[in-house]
Amino acid sequence: MANCVNCAAPLPKGSNICKYCGTRNDVDLKMIHEHTIHEPESERTCPRCKTALQTINLKIEGKFLIEKCNGCFGLFFDPGELEALVDKSVTNVFDVNYNRIRSLGEQRRHDDYPVRYIKCPVCGKLMNRINFGSRSGVVVDKCKQHGLWLDGGELRQIMEWVKAGGQLLHHQKRMEMERLDIQREKRKIRQNAMKVGGAGGLGRFGSAREGGRTFGAMTGSADLLGLVGGFVSKILL
Ligand SMILES: [Zn+2]
Ligand SMILES: [Zn+2]
Ligand SMILES: [Zn+2]
Repeated sequence: MANCVNCAAPLPKGSNICKYCGTRNDVDLKMIHEHTIHEPESERTCPRCKTALQTINLKIEGKFLIEKCNGCFGLFFDPGELEALVDKSVTNVFDVNYNRIRSLGEQRRHDDYPVRYIKCPVCGKLMNRINFGSRSGVVVDKCKQHGLWLDGGELRQIMEWVKAGGQLLHHQKRMEMERLDIQREKRKIRQNAMKVGGAGGLGRFGSAREGGRTFGAMTGSADLLGLVGGFVSKILL
């Protein structure tokens, strides 16, 4: 468990703000990696403190530069960097720890930062608020063009969620949804095929060939449907 740098009290789970003295603690990069300060200083500014961000090198597979605010400990990642960091830092997760995921969600404090839209450190446009990994419950700020802003403590929350198998869970749910979607689609196609098949289907296609030009022209589209319907029901049955 982490302790407050100011008063040494244990920090509450799911938050980086000390309950006793109110100090905001820098908890994110400690658990991840050694890092060094990279010069020159970034030209980007913190969307919360409006001060210059510091460029730091996480030294993962050579150079891995991200930006950090020394006031609020927020982090800025260029597009794809956070995902790369998560992939490199959290490996060997094969199971979903449902209890852990539930308790992480319950511990998480949502009032550490005011809920409002903040500006992208690069272009200054308001960023979107997105749920990282679709269902982590960690809401981060995203500029489509320039990257992701994580408030202090959010990187730790994301890492804990991923370690508990959160991404696997998300993947499983997605597969399940896709499976249900495919089933629904198949059922629809089968129903349509039966409808069209009942109205003539391949039989009509046959008679159109015998019936000559007028009949063929009149029922051209129905014939095509019948053909497709017959074809589809053959695949499905
Ligand atoms: Zn404290
Ligand atoms: Zn800041
Ligand atoms: Zn931007």
